[in-house]
Amino acid sequence: MACAAEHATFNFFAVTAVTTIVQKKKGHPADASAPAMGAAAACLPSLPDWLEPAVHPNHRSFFHSVTFATLVAYAMYRAYKWETQEPWERVARIVLLTGGAAYLAHLARDAFTPKSLPLI
Ligand SMILES: [Zn+2]
Repeated sequence: MACAAEHATFNFFAVTAVTTIVQKKKGHPADASAPAMGAAAACLPSLPDWLEPAVHPNHRSFFHSVTFATLVAYAMYRAYKWETQEPWERVARIVLLTGGAAYLAHLARDAFTPKSLPLI
């Protein structure tokens, strides 16, 4: 099991890299928003472990599954495509994208451990 500090480090680098790639594809100029999003994701290193605490080696169930990761990715896609009008909507969009990225980065790190992730 990876510890919270390891997840935080992985979240920072993974979310910063993916955000930079997405921004570059969209033609956005490089700025501090990618590392800022990585830093925010690093502050949420263990979201799946809040739902399924790592109290034993077989704690990974539905909220650590490939199925749930797919649902989170779809929710993030919908949030990414959300054409916000109001300031609160922009804040909600950023919170959803950052939380989703932190969640998926945690699962990506867990996937590369010997226990990996269950399908369901
Ligand atoms: Zn975990």
